[in-house]
Amino acid sequence: ISSKLPAVGTNIFSKMSALAAEKGAINLSQGFPDFKPDERLLTRASNALLEGNNQYSPMTGLPVLRDAIASLIARHYGRQVDSAEEVTVTSGASEAIFDAITALIQPGDEVVLFDPAYDLYEPAITLAGGVCQRMTLTAPDFRPDWQAFASLLTENTRLVIINTPHNPTGSCWTEDDLASLWQAIKSQDIYVLSDEVYEFIHFGEQAVSVHKHPELRARSFVVSSFGKSFHLTGWKVGYVVAPTELTAELRKLHQYVTFCTATPLQQALAEHLQEIPESSAELAMFYQRKRDVLRNALANSRFTLLPCDGTYFQLLDYSAVSDLDDVAFCEWLIDEVGVAAIPVSVFYQQAPQDQRLIRLCFAKEEHTLLEAAQKLSRL
Ligand code: PMP
Ligand code: GLN
Repeated sequence: ISSKLPAVGTNIFSKMSALAAEKGAINLSQGFPDFKPDERLLTRASNALLEGNNQYSPMTGLPVLRDAIASLIARHYGRQVDSAEEVTVTSGASEAIFDAITALIQPGDEVVLFDPAYDLYEPAITLAGGVCQRMTLTAPDFRPDWQAFASLLTENTRLVIINTPHNPTGSCWTEDDLASLWQAIKSQDIYVLSDEVYEFIHFGEQAVSVHKHPELRARSFVVSSFGKSFHLTGWKVGYVVAPTELTAELRKLHQYVTFCTATPLQQALAEHLQEIPESSAELAMFYQRKRDVLRNALANSRFTLLPCDGTYFQLLDYSAVSDLDDVAFCEWLIDEVGVAAIPVSVFYQQAPQDQRLIRLCFAKEEHTLLEAAQKLSRL
């Protein structure tokens, strides 16, 4: 068969999690919690399954959930969105991202990505016939150079994909970054896909969001995921907020990609959002404690800890430990140390040559983090 994605193999998360399971290593690779979600949410889901509606929801998502999402956005960002016209529930942020790219990109359109970039953006762009233009960001801060960004834009640039708080680096943008982005694109017909799945896992003040930037949001798809905010990565319930015209195009895709997302899970999330008071500050504190447990436990190791301002990922520079490239180093870590991590170079088209970085997921029980840190500290 002539592959439409010849450069794509099994992704790094599947690979590393499978290796970790096979070799019995502590799995800090793929990003998912090893603890239970809120019991009340599980009860709501089980009630919704046993007593609720197990048939298709409306294509755009259950109205009660769309309303709850609109309220969440109003509370957090002071943005009023029309839940009927501007909010769509999707099967994870992944589906929202795929739909947005597929709806917008025509053959030959250019899309700007900031490398290291989450791995699902590029295949969707390639399938749509788009071309990726890459801004390479480097350790330790992964700061974008906005002049270099402006020089990447051409008359074919159609979309910019941004992600803050950022996977895999844990770096976060500032309001100045969003202002610079807007200055660079405003005179052209360029759209923005803002991947904000870690919006509530931000250490310090509230994370910056396109929701709070009136000009940018008028041209943006803003994507989030309940998987991250409620420790439910396997539920795959996400959502996308976009102005009416963009939403209408995205829904043309959504209605044929999945049509709708599991109805009882939508019902459970809607009830939960309505009944449980604000918990996003709590979520950030919860993960900040885990980040600090891991950082403190590695403080005397030979790894250098990079800054981590958001997400549940911590980058380590292993230059003092090994000369192996990062993929080989991660395989070695699983075999010899019993810890699974993610090599950062896989998120780049062309990683900086001397960069030696691995990503650890700290969405884990404290004892898991301490055990892994103890093993890593022996190196
Ligand atoms: N974007 C980023 C940056 C992510 O880390 C993830 C989660 N792995 C996704 C999108 C996809 O989210 P979901 O699991 O809700 O599809
Ligand atoms: N987003 C998760 C991560 O970065 C993985 C998602 C997946 O496995 N597809 O680890």
